[in-house]
Amino acid sequence: MKCLAGKVYDGGVFRDGYVLWEGGRVVERGEGRPPAEPDSVGVIVPEMVDAHTHCADAGVKAEPGMTLEELVAPPDGLKHRYLREASDGTLERDMGGFERTALSNGIGTFIDFREGGLRGCLLARRALSHAVVLGRPVSGEFDGAEIADILSAADGIAISSVTDVGPRYAERIAHECHRAGRPFALHVSERVREDIDLAVSLEPAFVVHMVEATDRDISECADRGIGIVVCPRSNRFFGKTTRAARMLELGADVALGTDNAMLCPPDMRGEARALADILSSQGGDPSDVWHCLVDGGWKILNRTKRIPAPFGTADTAVVLPCPGKTPEAALDSDGPVFVP
Ligand SMILES: [Zn+2]
Repeated sequence: MKCLAGKVYDGGVFRDGYVLWEGGRVVERGEGRPPAEPDSVGVIVPEMVDAHTHCADAGVKAEPGMTLEELVAPPDGLKHRYLREASDGTLERDMGGFERTALSNGIGTFIDFREGGLRGCLLARRALSHAVVLGRPVSGEFDGAEIADILSAADGIAISSVTDVGPRYAERIAHECHRAGRPFALHVSERVREDIDLAVSLEPAFVVHMVEATDRDISECADRGIGIVVCPRSNRFFGKTTRAARMLELGADVALGTDNAMLCPPDMRGEARALADILSSQGGDPSDVWHCLVDGGWKILNRTKRIPAPFGTADTAVVLPCPGKTPEAALDSDGPVFVP
């Protein structure tokens, strides 16, 4: 039995209390003084969901000042050339290393947009055991056999964007996912504003970025219950800022993702800190960051039953060291996360 004590996150608020942990799960929660000497003290949250990653590209040397097109646009951005040329062993090793770092940072599950077609999915399956893998076709046009192969190896499919693949191709991929009962997701409005009506017509499980989205675009997602994953540190690298305060104001479900491994490690505290700063600067409430960090990630994972949640239950907990009096101090700390 392990005893975790401190500020326990409970549906949007923190209560002083404790959590007892046994046999790999939470067996008791309580308020007030813990019944035993705590093994760890700090801010207690469920295992976090990193709602958007590209875990294989840690080996890419991204230079500051590179544009989105130069770095990540398919098919010939630096990242895609790297993924084609790197050996299976290198990619597997980097993905495995990413997962170990994620777990040690208190991330229980991450949702990976896995590039590289069937090969990328098979490598991910070998290297990872805590990821939801959303594969991506590499064919220049729709190939039903390729989609079937990817769906046999991955949990679902995520495309780069409608702009990158074209609307007809995107529709056919989305259709195949829905037919198979699997999640479909995509980046939307990262480089330029994209047609939100087209994006939501694909019935995605969630969308990523929406940096260039208008209020109406955001409201379309909010009204249809399509969650938005924001990646503030990745956006910052490209000189962009997410409109997160407005997203929350308009009622969107907002979650956090660390995006490309070459730009950001899987560290949700760093991502949440960046989001809290943005919320402050946009007139929002920085403490809303916890709702995005905890509930937002779980909603993305569980919004649709089509996304399996193999590890997550509310019966998990990790402890973020918190050197200050408010929970926000935990976001500034880079002390080790206690993972029971
Ligand atoms: Zn991405």
